[in-house]
Amino acid sequence: MRIPCPYCGERDIHEFAYLGDATVSRPDPARNDAVQAFYEYVYLRDNPAGSFQELWYHAAGCHSWLVVTRDTRTHAIFGARLASREAS
Ligand SMILES: [Zn+2]
Repeated sequence: MRIPCPYCGERDIHEFAYLGDATVSRPDPARNDAVQAFYEYVYLRDNPAGSFQELWYHAAGCHSWLVVTRDTRTHAIFGARLASREAS
């Protein structure tokens, strides 16, 4: 599998570290239901079959966090963009 890094170009997957689902966001610890929200954030994750957005870290390259869209059934990668663009 090869991931197209926006800075480095297409690179082998062994240069990257996988973090997980890019669609979840950390809950606010001040919420009244923070304990339940963190339980769900940490332990309850979807396992979809098909297109999925994942966070990958280019550890052996530019050290950027990427949001990679990948088909979990075929491992086909549809694209990658900088995760920092998502946060702003
Ligand atoms: Zn890179």
